[in-house]
Amino acid sequence: MRLSVVVPVYNEEAVVLSFHARLAGVLDGVPCAWEICYVDDGSTDQTAEMIRHIMNADARVRLLQLSRNFGHQVALTAGMDHADGDAVITMDGDGQHPPELIPELLALYQKGYDLVLTQRRADKDAGLIKRLTSRGFYWLINRLSQTYILPDSADFRLMSREAVLGLRQVREQHRFLRGIVTWMGFSWAVVHFQAQPRLAGCSKYSSRKMLELAGNAVFSFSTVPLRLAIWMGFILLFFSATEVAWVLYLISVGRQAELVPGWTSLMLALLGIGGVQLVLLGLVGQYVGLIFQETKKRPLYFLKPQPRRGAAAETVEIEENLRV
Ligand code: UDP
Ligand code: MG
Repeated sequence: MRLSVVVPVYNEEAVVLSFHARLAGVLDGVPCAWEICYVDDGSTDQTAEMIRHIMNADARVRLLQLSRNFGHQVALTAGMDHADGDAVITMDGDGQHPPELIPELLALYQKGYDLVLTQRRADKDAGLIKRLTSRGFYWLINRLSQTYILPDSADFRLMSREAVLGLRQVREQHRFLRGIVTWMGFSWAVVHFQAQPRLAGCSKYSSRKMLELAGNAVFSFSTVPLRLAIWMGFILLFFSATEVAWVLYLISVGRQAELVPGWTSLMLALLGIGGVQLVLLGLVGQYVGLIFQETKKRPLYFLKPQPRRGAAAETVEIEENLRV
């Protein structure tokens, strides 16, 4: 079997050499052929030159260079489009995703899982605000989305070749890979890891990029926001019906003198027209949501990957190798 490791890097000149040494050290210990595919996401520093230097010394290292900075999710996608291993691992190039976890991911792959996801325990580096917003985000997205999205999951995962081939068919522009992988529905297992501090350099995820990712997650996995207007409209219509009932009650008991002249018609017009408008807007939202889903052109289904032939035999082989 052959393992591909995809690593997106953006202006990581401060860490790329030490990260590579650490990753290659771990990979040399796993009993399979491997390649590392670095995806340079339009770095403006010496990152690409450093990777070329690594490539000259080791033919198992590849470099894909994007023409400009397209963002982490697109860089990961480009890597998965070009990685041709039987299993593909994606991980950050800053040391926050410990390469030492790779044997554990591989062991679960050998057991037959098509996706091995990872979940961060606690990020000592992240401040209170980042932790709270992250928790709030996963709470919200799992209420709005029909697809389950694993809280605190990282873009550090192993995918079988079948899963990668499936993911290559998902070509939507606004991508939230953590959602797309569970949406695909292949068998998955989760491994926990302690988030580690960056080896060096600083985070390339600005608050703007973070918000953009959260927005992509909500809007590409849920059409609930488009339909909010319907519910608000119904609430307004309920108020207007309550008002009608109140006015009729006052009239029926002969207390219409208590009504300020003009109040009845004004309130009715306000609540009624407002409610009708919102309901109609929500209906338009419903159609826009359907159009949006169609334009994403996600595949309609995936076939269940068949058990990998010889998976059990390979497990035995690993155990023997370890004993040697
Ligand atoms: N990255 C990328 N393109 C970007 C931003 C980040 O390829 O536009 C890479 C970055 O080099 C790193 C990984 O994505 O390998 C995760 O980014 P970072 O560590 O900055 O994010 P954080 O861990 O702070 O959320
Ligand atoms: Mg990082």
